Amino acid sequence: MDGAGGRGQQGRRGARSAAPRGRGAGGSPGDTATPRAPRREGSTARRRPSAAKSLPVRPAASGGEEPPAPRGGTVAARAPAARRRAAVPDGAVATPEAVFRSPSAAGAPRLREVLLGLTLGRQDVSEASGLVNEVVSHLIQALRSSGGSFSSIERLGAGSYYEHVKISEPNEFDIMLVMPIARLQLDECDDTGAYYYLTFKRNPKERYLLRFLDEEGKLSAFKMLQTLREIIKQEVKNIKNVEVTVQRKKAGSPAITLQIKNPPAADISVDIILTLEVQQSWPPSTQDGLKIEPWLGRKVRGEFRNRSLYLVAKQNKKEKVLRGNTWRLSFSHIEKAMMNNHGSSKTCCESDGLKCCRKSCLKLLKYLLEQLKMKYPKKLEKFCSYHVKTAFLHSCVIWPNDTDWHLGDLDHCFQKYLGYFLDCLQKSQLPHFFIPKYNLLSLEDKASNDFLSRQINNQLNNGFPIFHERF
Ligand SMILES: [Zn+2]
Repeated sequence: MDGAGGRGQQGRRGARSAAPRGRGAGGSPGDTATPRAPRREGSTARRRPSAAKSLPVRPAASGGEEPPAPRGGTVAARAPAARRRAAVPDGAVATPEAVFRSPSAAGAPRLREVLLGLTLGRQDVSEASGLVNEVVSHLIQALRSSGGSFSSIERLGAGSYYEHVKISEPNEFDIMLVMPIARLQLDECDDTGAYYYLTFKRNPKERYLLRFLDEEGKLSAFKMLQTLREIIKQEVKNIKNVEVTVQRKKAGSPAITLQIKNPPAADISVDIILTLEVQQSWPPSTQDGLKIEPWLGRKVRGEFRNRSLYLVAKQNKKEKVLRGNTWRLSFSHIEKAMMNNHGSSKTCCESDGLKCCRKSCLKLLKYLLEQLKMKYPKKLEKFCSYHVKTAFLHSCVIWPNDTDWHLGDLDHCFQKYLGYFLDCLQKSQLPHFFIPKYNLLSLEDKASNDFLSRQINNQLNNGFPIFHERF
């Protein structure tokens, strides 16, 4: 199926069907995933992502879907390094890069070696995603044929796996299950512009959803998830060849998490994210977001804004009483499309085009944050990979040209991207890429922001020793 949002608008490199999580803990500001503390915390050894030694295996997944083929940007990193230095455009956010010592100058291995080491054990991921696809296909088929409230449900692929920037943990997946709804009324439930109450304007076409309205007439994510959870709990019993269980509900979290046994490998954990898709214009809070004109052009922006709107069941933690009736905008379909078509020229990173290091830079910063979070899980719990991804998207706009991200300039590009992120941390200001008034780095968390900023600076000035530490 198509994960890019609009039907038939498939990413240039094809659809994928299962997305492992590559996210850390923290209060998630905008991603589709439910971030959480890294599971490996406290474990004695972390499995090191193995180098790219095996070719992707493509097991036959049920439902005729192509299993996800992991592929990092690391192969491209071996391309000849033509050292062309692109100038920082005028008016760009000032970066402290001038004061940075280059990692190689500090005696550290080159960043591209770190990247090579980040390439996943491809076979592991491929096998795991085959299994996940099998289970999810079974569940979707059962839901669709039940004739109940969820019979219109579909699957949407989202997250780092589809964007080819997955860096570790092949055993964690997010699956967005999507319910198309003709029309919804959105009412902002706070000043972020990201969280909404949903109501039906008049009698909805989807009468089967009326049972999920709460006493105020708002669509209750909690009620929907509770029902979905019970159906899935029954249905996993009918899966014969794989051992699947539904994990116990966590207090305050409506998420449905499946656990799939995959011996002798570690269990696979799958978060099911209930998502609504409406074909209506994006709300006013997004009006000045997605400023991709300098990078991808006006036309592409217009096309993106014409795509469906997605809302995920997400508790707004700022609410005093958790009623389970808030929904958060999700743009993971657009993020995916931008990652997969990330060049200012159409041919960037195509076989006949210039190779850039955008994805490599994103992977490196994700890894840096992941590593730091392992070292300081409590102090950095507010941060998740969505912060890194958001800063990345802003960087793509600040440095819009493919030549700004020349593959041969990986160290330099990584440093300017990092410089921008540090700048955001120091100002406690990182606007959501699609909802500019929504600041992902609140001043309330200034102490955390300063702490992360210090840690990153420390890494930068010492050649990123943490890239080689094990936790
Ligand atoms: Zn590229």
